[in-house]
Amino acid sequence: MEKRDFLKASALFTAGLFVLPGMTAEQLLARPEGSAASKGPYKLPKLNYGYDALEPHFDAKTMEIHHKAHHQAYIDKLNEAVIEAKQETTPLEKLFSSLKTNKKNAEAIRHFGGGHWNHTFWWESLTNIKTAPIGGLDAAIRTQWGALSVLKNEFNKAALAQFGSGWAWLIVNESKKLQIVSTADQDNPLMDLPGNVKGIPVLGLDVWEHAYYLKYQNKRKDYTEAFWNVIDWSLAEQRFQAALAAGGKSK
Ligand code: MN
Repeated sequence: MEKRDFLKASALFTAGLFVLPGMTAEQLLARPEGSAASKGPYKLPKLNYGYDALEPHFDAKTMEIHHKAHHQAYIDKLNEAVIEAKQETTPLEKLFSSLKTNKKNAEAIRHFGGGHWNHTFWWESLTNIKTAPIGGLDAAIRTQWGALSVLKNEFNKAALAQFGSGWAWLIVNESKKLQIVSTADQDNPLMDLPGNVKGIPVLGLDVWEHAYYLKYQNKRKDYTEAFWNVIDWSLAEQRFQAALAAGGKSK
């Protein structure tokens, strides 16, 4: 959904009239989690926790709408796009790294493929179990920033500076160093795009208003602060090690 539509839809949602193309919010939310809403290779991933598990940092209603409605909408459009272009079996990472030469459906891959990949990454990044940076990632953060609090400030600054919709990322870049970057809309650092710093994400923060508006309204800063309470650092360490092994280069 475009941002302007989201703002309009937010108002309608409050009035109980929230509508996505072809479906009401009630219909979207009534679907069983992970149900095949559209034909195609991509399905809504199941979460490892309940929608209310990340309270009070992320509220249950936002989690549910974000997962069942927003993420599913990206999947539906992505399925249509890959079926149309006969790319059902091509890994998304491969499609991301060939955006410059893809004349068929680069915009659809960028937006809907990015939407699906980014949100799958997002759900996996979160946990209601309190963790802290460990291992090689912890050491690299200390080497590059001195302390986690310094990284956190820099990362939050990038999240706040991203005008409109987008993501802030901590990546392993192609020099095998950690780096904070931000991308617009549903772009991500795996994509072969002009001006994009390429690398493999270790952490990502969704700064689309749909990720926080119900609870935080215009207070994106409070939302970026809340994110640090629900990060799964064990998974971040696994991602970091895998990214280093790959030399910061995606497939
Ligand atoms: Mn989102």
